[in-house]
Amino acid sequence: MADPKYRRVLLKISGEALCKPGEQGIDGDALEHLAREIKLVAELDVQLCVVVGAGNLVRGGSIARETHVEEVTGHYMGMLGTVINALAVQDTLESLGVPTRVQSAVAIDRVCERFIRRRALRHLEKGRVVIFAAGTGNPYFTTDSGAALRASEIGADVLLKATKVDGVYSDDPVSNPSATFYEHLSYAEVIEKRLKVIDVTAVDLCRNSKIPIVVFNLNKPGGMRAVVEGRKLGTIIGGQQ
Ligand code: UDP
Repeated sequence: MADPKYRRVLLKISGEALCKPGEQGIDGDALEHLAREIKLVAELDVQLCVVVGAGNLVRGGSIARETHVEEVTGHYMGMLGTVINALAVQDTLESLGVPTRVQSAVAIDRVCERFIRRRALRHLEKGRVVIFAAGTGNPYFTTDSGAALRASEIGADVLLKATKVDGVYSDDPVSNPSATFYEHLSYAEVIEKRLKVIDVTAVDLCRNSKIPIVVFNLNKPGGMRAVVEGRKLGTIIGGQQ
């Protein structure tokens, strides 16, 4: 087997990867698909961490618009939602024999570890998949930013952003079939073109830390592993042309 292209990988999974398309909550089949894809990567000789979102459960901005919950409280709820998702991913991975640890940016000591960088690195050295929960630990941010932050802190070689389409397009390829697919984009192009695939703060942080971002299709079986092995799949942002 050829050496993988990336040795330390940070995977960002949106909450929607944990539910049925267009629905909310946590779906067993979606979880199992996700865990099997992660296992394929974990079986390579790589260190793997995962940041999970919570769009399937709660988004701070939306709940504040729709209810009397204050926006800041909504963000706290969103961060707690990522902990719920992280626990679901953890147990599903472990049911497949993949050892894991969950580390949360918000202390919930009875349930999981707190984020401690050196401890996270030690888990990675021991071959555990480390699942980072609670985003950045601060309201008004997103889990994309949490992913870019953790990727920078642990010195990841790449940030993989899982989506339900093949990569980055000029427009939504589902509603506009003539949208252009981009194989490669610079960080500046993603920001200037206002491409909504990943938030601007996250792109800027990855630019500073010189971490390439690969946007790929999680629904393609084996796709994530193929990206880590170095096959040309998805859209690469930053990095080598
Ligand atoms: N959130 C937050 N701070 C963070 C990360 C997330 O306050 O550092 C909250 C925010 O309200 C967000 C919600 O958690 O809407 C869920 O995260 P996100 O929208 O990034 O989830 P995804 O879209 O990836 O499923």
